[in-house]
Amino acid sequence: MFPFRFSKAPDEASALAAAASGARYIAGGTTLIDLMRETVERPADVVDINALPYRDIDLQPSSMRIGSLIRMSELAAHSGVRGQFPVIAQALELSASAQIRNMASIGGNLMQRPRCLYFRDVSAACNRRTPGAGCSAIGGRNRTHAILGISDACVATHPSDLAVALVALDAQVITRDPNGEYPIRISEFFRQPGATPDQEHTLRPGALITAIEVPIVPEARRSGYLKVRDRESFEFALASAAVALDIADGTVRAARVAVGGVGTVPWRLAAVEQALVGRTANPGLWRDAASHAADGAKPLSENGFKVELVKRTVERQLAAVAGLP
Ligand SMILES: Cc1cc2nc3c(=O)[nH]c(=O)nc-3n(C[C@H](O)[C@H](O)[C@H](O)COP(=O)(O)OP(=O)(O)OC[C@H]3O[C@@H](n4cnc5c(N)ncnc54)[C@H](O)[C@@H]3O)c2cc1C
Repeated sequence: MFPFRFSKAPDEASALAAAASGARYIAGGTTLIDLMRETVERPADVVDINALPYRDIDLQPSSMRIGSLIRMSELAAHSGVRGQFPVIAQALELSASAQIRNMASIGGNLMQRPRCLYFRDVSAACNRRTPGAGCSAIGGRNRTHAILGISDACVATHPSDLAVALVALDAQVITRDPNGEYPIRISEFFRQPGATPDQEHTLRPGALITAIEVPIVPEARRSGYLKVRDRESFEFALASAAVALDIADGTVRAARVAVGGVGTVPWRLAAVEQALVGRTANPGLWRDAASHAADGAKPLSENGFKVELVKRTVERQLAAVAGLP
């Protein structure tokens, strides 16, 4: 570890002022401290934002606002979340470990950085860590990497499970900088790597995430998250699916489907959704719609299995969610 300065911000203005002078925010510290220990990140100043007033979960008739400092375990246990948005509660409960979920914040979860082993190994080439350095994963061990949204510069997946559920539900990330509060649609929050994989999101430099807003839509009540991974707990997704369905009189009225573990960002599946809406709910429909789950995929040398895996994950989760009461 290297020396760094640590301070606590008593309010928003001091936090924003500290960030304007180059400090990094810290909430639960479950990701940032790891990256500092591995010297992947080397901030000279770290500012604790846990005193900021971002700790409410506010359920309104048309939306739910989740403070960014709410812990993952707190959100997963909230009765409003479990009733209105089961997909959010399940994505959280299938993430990390109980201990990490008790520490980790919702804002930090969205801001977590890739788990690519070359990104986390400072002796390997990584364009995300050092722009222009090259990408060791493209010709290296890439079994766990992305098949959707990849570029010649980076093939790392986005690791957040929660973000997959939020992308399916069209949430907004509420942010604040010295000029005021502004929302960002979550689909526009995460940036595909392109030629600049070091630019991971569209948050303005030094801005805070204050909350997440999730619209209440009928299909969110019939929703769920399936995560396929190498071991049953404490592991990131090889493929995952967030599904929400509104089915009335045997017909799919609305569908929301997003996948994780396969994209460089949480990946919404518009073609799968289109194949579902207006059709009669039955096992053949789940299979036909899920056949579009890997449209546009570009597998790497070791992860071709993900093409079939993501289709099967989506099909299985469509059937599971359709079968819910
Ligand atoms: C062993 C392990 C397994 C894991 N498994 C999973 C998993 O299966 N699924 C999953 O989704 N995640 C997983 N995680 C990641 C975990 O969910 C994140 O570490 C956690 O959510 C980060 O939250 P934090 O509050 O600790 O963030 P911190 O470490 O405090 O911060 C992370 C980043 O977010 C920034 N930040 C924090 N809060 C704000 C804010 N309000 N505004 C702006 N920037 C902010 C910080 O500056 C920093 O860059 C795992 C982590 C570990 C260590």
